Amino acid sequence: MSASKLWSCTETVLNGGIKLFLYSSKNTKLRVAIGEVPGPMVHGAVSFVTEADSDDGLPHTLEHLVFMGSKKYPFKGVLDVIANRCLADGTNAWTDTDHTAYTLSTVGSDGFLKVLPVYINHLLTPMLTASQFATEVHHITGEGNDAGVVYSEMQDHESEMESIMDRKTKEVIYPPFNPYAVDTGGRLKNLRESCTLEKVRDYHKKFYHLSNMVVTVCGMVDHDQVLEIMNNVENEHMSTVPDHFPKPFSFALSDIKESTVHRVECPTDDASRGAVEVAWFAHSPSDLETHSSLHVLFDYLSNTSVAPLQKDFILLEDPLASSVSFHIAEGVRCDLRLNFAGVPVEKLDECAPKFFDKTVREHLEEANFDMERMGYLIDQTILNELVKLETNAPKDIMSHIIGHQLFDNEDEELFKKRTNEIDFLKKLKSEPASYWVQLVNKYFTAPSATVIGVPNEELVDKIAEEEEKRIAAQCEKLGKKGLEEAGKSLEAAILENTANHPSAELLDQLIVKDLEAFDRFPVQSLTSNSPSLTPQQSTFLAQFPFHANLHNCPTKFVEIFFLLDSSNLSIEDRSYLFLYTDLLFESPAMIDGVLTSADDVAKHFTKDLIDHSIQVGVSGLYDRFVNLRIKVGADKYPLLAKWAQIFTQGVVFDPSRIHQCAQKLAGEARDRKRDGCTVASTAVASMVYGKNTNCILFDELVLEKLHEKISKDVMKNPEAVLEKLEQVRSALFSNGVNAHFVADVDSIDPKMLSSDLWTWVQADPRFGPGHQFSAEAGENVSLELGKELLIGVGGSESSFIYQTSFLDANWNSEELIPAMIFGQYLSQCEGPLWRAIRGDGLAYGANVFVKPDRKQITLSLYRCAQPAVAYERTRDIIRKIVESGEISKAEFEGAKRSTVFEMMKREGTVSGAAKISILNNFRQTPHPFNIDLCRRIWNLTSEEMVKIGGPPLARLFDEKCFVRSIAVHPSKLNEMKKAFPGSSKIKISDLQFAC
Ligand SMILES: [Zn+2]
Repeated sequence: MSASKLWSCTETVLNGGIKLFLYSSKNTKLRVAIGEVPGPMVHGAVSFVTEADSDDGLPHTLEHLVFMGSKKYPFKGVLDVIANRCLADGTNAWTDTDHTAYTLSTVGSDGFLKVLPVYINHLLTPMLTASQFATEVHHITGEGNDAGVVYSEMQDHESEMESIMDRKTKEVIYPPFNPYAVDTGGRLKNLRESCTLEKVRDYHKKFYHLSNMVVTVCGMVDHDQVLEIMNNVENEHMSTVPDHFPKPFSFALSDIKESTVHRVECPTDDASRGAVEVAWFAHSPSDLETHSSLHVLFDYLSNTSVAPLQKDFILLEDPLASSVSFHIAEGVRCDLRLNFAGVPVEKLDECAPKFFDKTVREHLEEANFDMERMGYLIDQTILNELVKLETNAPKDIMSHIIGHQLFDNEDEELFKKRTNEIDFLKKLKSEPASYWVQLVNKYFTAPSATVIGVPNEELVDKIAEEEEKRIAAQCEKLGKKGLEEAGKSLEAAILENTANHPSAELLDQLIVKDLEAFDRFPVQSLTSNSPSLTPQQSTFLAQFPFHANLHNCPTKFVEIFFLLDSSNLSIEDRSYLFLYTDLLFESPAMIDGVLTSADDVAKHFTKDLIDHSIQVGVSGLYDRFVNLRIKVGADKYPLLAKWAQIFTQGVVFDPSRIHQCAQKLAGEARDRKRDGCTVASTAVASMVYGKNTNCILFDELVLEKLHEKISKDVMKNPEAVLEKLEQVRSALFSNGVNAHFVADVDSIDPKMLSSDLWTWVQADPRFGPGHQFSAEAGENVSLELGKELLIGVGGSESSFIYQTSFLDANWNSEELIPAMIFGQYLSQCEGPLWRAIRGDGLAYGANVFVKPDRKQITLSLYRCAQPAVAYERTRDIIRKIVESGEISKAEFEGAKRSTVFEMMKREGTVSGAAKISILNNFRQTPHPFNIDLCRRIWNLTSEEMVKIGGPPLARLFDEKCFVRSIAVHPSKLNEMKKAFPGSSKIKISDLQFAC
């Protein structure tokens, strides 16, 4: 019998673009969704509804433990080993308030279908042993410290302002121990004291079974094959379905009775800024219309500089916040939040009252709604849904399926509604202003809970002291003997966890043996000199008075990457580049010869453009270029030229906008200063790149003081600042421009193609000749070898280390593939570093990255609980492998395949494939390069890897050959200085641009 006979099927089409099938088993409540997303990738998710009633973090703890091995495959990490061998990059998972989801992405469907049953076997029958619990969740080390993978992960969140405020809000609006109020990730005290293996086992039994499980597959897969696999899964696990499984989250929540305001103190090293959050209960989760409408309303209120919230709070002489945003979490009652970040302490009490008394009150009047802008916004929302079909369909599908699983009571009509939001959005366009007034009235005038996050510098030390005391007391209580025992039992646990290894026979069954021809997106990279252009292609390419590339591919949109070369900028000019780019979308401009206010400019681009952005670099590489990106529907092609002109030539700098932008940027820097990872990466960049480069100077953190200064200067002496910005503009234009177009050129009406659209470039004397730009790998790299920086960051309790050395290889070098695979071999899921560093709870991540475009090789130790030990162990492991050349054959095969996955993933969407095509121009690699690269990877031997890839890795630990940055909590500075005696202690301000 064909597998599909055992399933009933509901069919729909995601926003008119992608076919979506929802199969329901006739035997259990198991459901399988398949979305036919084109391209080489297959993405899958297995989701369970998970409800918790304590801060023990059972859902999160369980999420980690399922990866430790199943009863049938009792080997730690075997799942990731198999995933790597089947062209995936390991597995992933997340725990949310109401569900836990496990994901897997592969290139091609062969690998996916091989891993899926093994994955599900782990989910339904994990081992859940005491020794796994010890290493993965929590244990006490021989030194008396608390550790464990989950424990160190949560350490980073516990004292974040955001977490503290969220906890407070939940405490106020939900009853105690309500599933929406508890911390599903786990509080530290609970992880230490009350989370137990027994509880995790019971939790697993209660929630992880076929009747609470949905499998989602997105990609080009054979439905029958998937369903047959799922039939086997069902037969094998039918007996674990509980007789009685009451539907989770079957409770009602009462209204917030009255509005209240609460203050919470949060540890931070920046006592000048806090945050404010307002919470309401909104609609029921099956009211999908209100859900969509609220999102549009939030967009209207907060997006772009015309938006009321930006005007009321951010774009002011004296801003009340650096950012304002809305969030809505679906739930039994949807939980609506309004968040003000970067609020000056003296204004903490003003935010919520101003929101209610001004923003809300004004929007209770129909006349105050700009319905023209609302119409543009809805059109844009619809277009964005269509864009997502090309760029991010799997994520969209998974979130719809999980929403359906959680809230729709298996109602198929709701499923169809969820997946066809565009139908509703189209109707929404005809709603009058009164509709929006009624929405504001219903949700924003209802009782709310306001939580004010008050920054407190002293708390940082106080918490550190308390933690020291607690550890000291813990050590004392354990005594010498107890500590020894703790150390021994940890060792025993590690030993037990890693004792079993899968047999060669088993591994041999679970591998993709042939490099298949993946279902790739075709991209033709063309210039006017390309041979055999079609008439339409050649008409298209003949339009431009500068070098232009067409990346012709199947898309419904036209996108331009308008590149400017910043190499003529002086260091002073360059320090203004960040502000310059930020002003492009927030300033008045000349449109068709008329000076147009910033608000009207924003309104117009909302109408005309699907997307626009400005950044340095092409896909984050080759940072010398400033990249203005604009995207429109194919029917609006001429608007690309219009807006490229407005955003370059047309922008008129305005002192009050400059003042606001500079203030906002300084505010954002203050937030970034609290993030250890950001600080460590800014610090390492300061030692890697030349001073006058975008890699250093295009960084808000570095420019904080300058932005503060500009915001003051521009009020006193606007002329000087305006002159500076004009200087930046002229210097940027002086090298001319290049353009890369991503389009299906046949979808553009030939009547719209005209060189007249682009004459403005020629007519402006500031533009230099637009010859073809070229770039070199490793430009601007100038390593201050041997330098080490150590910085205290009060915002997070974890530590971050970056160590970088020079790699003499670009994309065409012989050394590249061996070094790259070696890096992957060491860092991959369940590889040597993963096992020894993450597995032992020393750090959340230990990775070696080989970056040929930057000619660098970097070690990153991410979120370390014990930074010094993590570093030493990483170094010793890598040295030992490089020196001995002892390589696990199975892991080597996995590393090659997961690298192929990485390469192909970048062309997983049509826009990704086009971006690779653009990069190929700068990498001087042939097109299509990835096919050749994958073959070279596939054919590499482990001997070649060690022989050619080993030396660059060895250099990464040669003291004369690297630079290193370390960001730690201030309380750990002395300890780290001892561990890294060569490091210089600096302050964040030392990294900042002197002005
Ligand atoms: Zn986790």
